[in-house]
Amino acid sequence: MSCKTILASKVSASFRNQIKEDIKERNIKPKLVGFLANEDPAAMKYAEWTSKTCAETGVEFELRKVTKLELEGKITEANEDKSVNGIMVYYPVFGGKQDLYLQSCVSELKDVEGLCHKFVHNVYHNIRFMDDTETMKCIIPCTPLACVKILEYIGVYNPVIPYGNRLYGRTIAVINRSEIVGRPLAAMLANDGAKVFSVDVNGIQVFTRGTGIKLAHHQVEDIDATVEEIIPQCDVVITGVPTPKYKMPTSLLKDGVVAINFSSSANFEDDIKSKASIFVPSVGKVTVAMLERNLLRLHDYQNNLTEK
Ligand code: NAD
Repeated sequence: MSCKTILASKVSASFRNQIKEDIKERNIKPKLVGFLANEDPAAMKYAEWTSKTCAETGVEFELRKVTKLELEGKITEANEDKSVNGIMVYYPVFGGKQDLYLQSCVSELKDVEGLCHKFVHNVYHNIRFMDDTETMKCIIPCTPLACVKILEYIGVYNPVIPYGNRLYGRTIAVINRSEIVGRPLAAMLANDGAKVFSVDVNGIQVFTRGTGIKLAHHQVEDIDATVEEIIPQCDVVITGVPTPKYKMPTSLLKDGVVAINFSSSANFEDDIKSKASIFVPSVGKVTVAMLERNLLRLHDYQNNLTEK
């Protein structure tokens, strides 16, 4: 078996070291506030993990436990508090549309998760900067960004091709179309030039920039195909189905596929390494590194330290 397993800890290490050095050299103490308004043990675990990682890199992390009804007011207070550089909320809070509303209550200058309307809209429309003078890069949602960084690390992005087109020629499946991860991820990969099959319980869509990647941003098309038809065409398969019952059949995968799982459940079968060239079993550690990277960026924007 010549499959290489790539652990998220390996990919995240260089980002974390860079963040740590940057914080130390510049003698800054960026502060991230996490709001927990649910009793979800997974959210608590994620919060503990974020706290530990932040402590290691020199980021100040404060977990604020609030009631669901208090949350909006507490977000507004943190938006206005100059000592807070970044805000994140552990979802779900109410579930459904009220959570979408809460995502847009976070100021875009403090939105480390990149979930406010402007950032999500910009991902879908391939708008990479927050401002007309292109000094402030947009904040990208952490898990889709983590998947992109993993694909760069393992060489799926081709550095010979100009920036912005480096996935041209790649065919990728994303099995999840949630607004938090799967849909923005499919859009970003297609904006970077890939042909992306976006799969969810209701069907399959194709995201592309058209033949010759002539379009400025991706377009979406519903297709009448099955998973059995599309998966064998894919160079990369990324899974995010939140149930241990779901398994992507190894028999469908192209020989030498790159297989990445971001679900908390193992979505690939136990024999995945018999077919994959590279297998990434989880992405969580890279997600937290991206959270910190976004925080540093927002810290600098708040202090007028922009790219140019
Ligand atoms: P969600 O419930 O909002 O979305 C699940 C998606 O999977 C939907 O698009 C749904 O249609 C699709 N799906 C479900 N069953 C399917 C099937 N049989 N075939 C094809 N598609 C199917 O969940 P979410 O918030 O996107 O989270 C998904 C998973 O990713 C969870 O396990 C979550 O814990 C994990 N997650 C991980 C990170 C991380 O950084 N590691 C971050 C966010 C979410």
